Amino acid sequence: MLKDARDRYDVIVIGGGLGGMTAANRLARSGHSVLLLEQHHKLGGLATWFRRPGGHVFDVSLHGFPVGMIKSCRRYWSRRIADSVVQLKNIRFDNPMFSLTTTFDREDFTKLLVERFEIPAETVKKFFDAARKMNFYDDQETTTGELFERFFPGREDVIRLLMEPITYANGSTLEDPALCYGIVFSNFMSKGVYTFKGGTDRLIGLMAEELKASGVDVCTQANVEKIHVAGGRIEGVTVAGRKIGARAVVSNANLKGTIFNLVGEDRFSADFIEAARAVRLNNSSTQVYMALRPGEMIDPSCGDLLFSSTAKTFRTELLLSRDVTSRTYSFYYPKTRPGSNRCLVVASTNANYHDWADLPDEEYQAGKRDLIETTLDAITKYVPDMREKLDYVEAATPKTFERYTMHLDGASCGTKFEGLAVSRGLYEQVAGLYHAGSVGIIMSGWLGAVNYGVIVANDVDAFLMESYQ
Ligand SMILES: Cc1cc2nc3c(=O)[nH]c(=O)nc-3n(C[C@H](O)[C@H](O)[C@H](O)COP(=O)(O)OP(=O)(O)OC[C@H]3O[C@@H](n4cnc5c(N)ncnc54)[C@H](O)[C@@H]3O)c2cc1C
Repeated sequence: MLKDARDRYDVIVIGGGLGGMTAANRLARSGHSVLLLEQHHKLGGLATWFRRPGGHVFDVSLHGFPVGMIKSCRRYWSRRIADSVVQLKNIRFDNPMFSLTTTFDREDFTKLLVERFEIPAETVKKFFDAARKMNFYDDQETTTGELFERFFPGREDVIRLLMEPITYANGSTLEDPALCYGIVFSNFMSKGVYTFKGGTDRLIGLMAEELKASGVDVCTQANVEKIHVAGGRIEGVTVAGRKIGARAVVSNANLKGTIFNLVGEDRFSADFIEAARAVRLNNSSTQVYMALRPGEMIDPSCGDLLFSSTAKTFRTELLLSRDVTSRTYSFYYPKTRPGSNRCLVVASTNANYHDWADLPDEEYQAGKRDLIETTLDAITKYVPDMREKLDYVEAATPKTFERYTMHLDGASCGTKFEGLAVSRGLYEQVAGLYHAGSVGIIMSGWLGAVNYGVIVANDVDAFLMESYQ
């Protein structure tokens, strides 16, 4: 795959996730020579899909993202990509506290909170305004739990409505800084939840075409083994035993993997390494992928996205437990892939890496089978004849995510929030070294990854322009 690669580039991007691809595209469009190296045989990173016998195509992380994706795709990719971003209108909650359907935007949530949860309209308005005003430079001491306590004291049901989807989306907890919650929640509330019509394979295919048109050299199955630094500056990388020079490197790989495995801690100051060590990895996930026989339909009343739980109250640790009580179902109807006559369902849970990775092989396989069977039991509440309609089923665990993306501990969203400061501090340690990959709550998810790719590309562009002078 590397045979056509040159010996030297302005920038090498390590990793073809949404952040890496967006950074590469933007830098090439600015006139820099760019090489994108991806260890897997296809681009996309966690924004991925896979095919299975019978013609089934499963999306792994296409469950929903905020409306901002339209603008970001139009500006930094193409109108064609942006035009395929469409709204999911039926978001459902079903738990022992409440069952409801919503469009998951400010207007509908206000109505629900006032009419159904009987919160005064003025309190709801103040809460939305407070969440929307938060930005990265705000007070980082207040936690999400404290924010809820201020506006909705003692209302576990309200907290569940407001928090459960965000915890599913990015693993954030009531103990995390409130601004992480506020920014992501407000992004969704501005206009609801969106998806990509045609599936992840179509999106990544269109992005690959754009990368080519922008002049990015793309190599897949290209595992970067080392980032070289000399005299405090980037020299290049070693990939598949070959050294390729560069003035700048953007790593889209896991932040901690970049620092400790690809660069090596001796290239950083002791303080920086201490801060990097303290960064916590995000949790991982499990998924069960279910395909119905061609032509078998699911009743659209199931909704597009369903947050279901049998737990009496909302607790973050319950969402991570192997004893699953909460699942998010994504229902994919034929409209997702125009022209198809198929329905698929993906059931996701948050998960702890070590609950799976530490199991002996036999127990691990049994755990996967149990995950499939309990999910098939649970989904009969919504699709009663699921087992009869089922054509194919398969499960993924934290080990699966680790294997395909090389994310340490199979982390779904890279690191926790504190990773952002370390990611942003890299270039102060090594001239020309940047990171554009998931770091916690804001800079992760499809929209966060794309936007972070743009922010970092702008930094790299400024660095390169300065070094030309
Ligand atoms: C189960 C699940 C469901 C999700 N659902 C949603 C959702 O509904 N909505 C949403 O917005 N987000 C969702 N996410 C999160 C979202 O998919 C990610 O945050 C986002 O795609 C991450 O993009 P990224 O740019 O950080 O890179 P990643 O996708 O993490 O990609 C990093 C890339 O780097 C490559 N790489 C790593 N090391 C090397 C190396 N040494 N050499 C070469 N290449 C390397 C990897 O192979 C990978 O392709 C979900 C995640 C998971 C796991």
